[in-house]
Amino acid sequence: MKKGIVIKSTGSWYTVKTEEGNLIESRIKGNLRLKGIRSTNPIAVGDHVEIIESNEDNNIGSQVVGLIHKIWPRNNYIIRKSPNLSKESHIIAANIDQAFLIVTIQFPVTTTTFIDRFLVSAEAYRIPCHLIFNKIDLYNDEQTAAMNSLIEIYEMAGYQCLKISAKKEIGIHNLRQMMTNKTNVFSGHSGVGKSTIINSMLSNIVLKTGEISEAHFSGKHTTTNSEMYELDFGGYIIDTPGIKGFGVLEMEKEEISHYFPEIFRLLNECQYYNCTHTHEPHCAVKKSVEEGKIALSRYTSYLGLLEGEEKYRN
Ligand code: GDP
Ligand code: ZN
Repeated sequence: MKKGIVIKSTGSWYTVKTEEGNLIESRIKGNLRLKGIRSTNPIAVGDHVEIIESNEDNNIGSQVVGLIHKIWPRNNYIIRKSPNLSKESHIIAANIDQAFLIVTIQFPVTTTTFIDRFLVSAEAYRIPCHLIFNKIDLYNDEQTAAMNSLIEIYEMAGYQCLKISAKKEIGIHNLRQMMTNKTNVFSGHSGVGKSTIINSMLSNIVLKTGEISEAHFSGKHTTTNSEMYELDFGGYIIDTPGIKGFGVLEMEKEEISHYFPEIFRLLNECQYYNCTHTHEPHCAVKKSVEEGKIALSRYTSYLGLLEGEEKYRN
C-alpha cells in the first residue's frame, strides 16, 4: 500500500505521485464510497489517496497499476455541475491552497462585477484568493490610474494585489514567492495572460498560449482532464477546465454577505441581526459605503448577487 497525491485525472485513469516520487497509473476501486458527495467522478486532482499496487497484463506486457481504495478528507474542493445531469456534480480539483485571479484593465477589460463574483465563489469554496494585475507594460496613465483605484478597492476589502507584466517579467519574482510550496490555481478571462504566466513558472512544461482551460459560468465544458504541474521552486499549479469562475454556487441570500469580507466584518454592527444591508435603518454597511470605507462597486456587486439579477451576471 502506498500513499500519494493525484496529479492527473482523465476521468477514468488517475496518475498518483507516491510519497517516494513514483508515478503510478491508477483506477478507482469499485466500492469506494464518498460520504455526502454525489459525483460522476469521485476523485480529483489534488486528492490525497492510498493505493494498492497490482500487476496487470495488457498488450505491452505486464505493468504495475494502482487501485485507489482510500481517500483523505479534503480541505476544500471545486465542483462543477454536470450540464446534462441536473443533480450530479463533478469534482474538478481538491486541496487548493490559493487562487490567483488574473486581471487586466485593457486587452481584455475585466469588470468589477466579474472580479466580485469570482471572489464570492472563491470565498464560498474557502479558497484564499489574490488579485494579479497583468500587462502593466501596456497601460497609459489613465489605465494605470484605473488599475491603482481597483487595487485600492480590493486591498481595502482585504485582498492581496500584485502588479506584474508577464511579458516584460516585471513582478514575476514576487508572484513566485507567493506561490512557493503551495497548490495554486490561476483564473481569469481568456487573453489576460494565464498561459504566459504559467509558462514562466514551469521550466520543463510548455503550455501553448491560449491552451489554459476555459469554461464559462454556464458550465458547458464537459472535459474532465485536469492536471497538476510541479514547480521547481516548490509547490504545484493546477490546470483544470471550469476554473474560470469556479461555477455558480447555489447560495442562500443570507450567505452572500459572508463572502464579502468587508461586509462580513460588520456582521454585529447593524441594528438588526438579520440585516440585509439594503433598506434597514442603522445599517453599518450602508454607513461604511457612504463614508467610502466600502467601495461602491463592491456594494453594487453585493446587491446584484442578492437580487440575482441577470444584468449583473457577466
Ligand atoms: P490566457 O488566455 O489567459 O492564457 O492568455 P495568454 O497567456 O494566451 O496571453 C494572451 C496574449 O497576451 C498573448 O498574446 C500574450 O503574449 C499577451 N500577454 C500576456 N501577458 C502580457 C503582458 O504582461 N504584457 C503584454 N504586453 N502582453 C501580454
Ligand atoms: Zn446592515
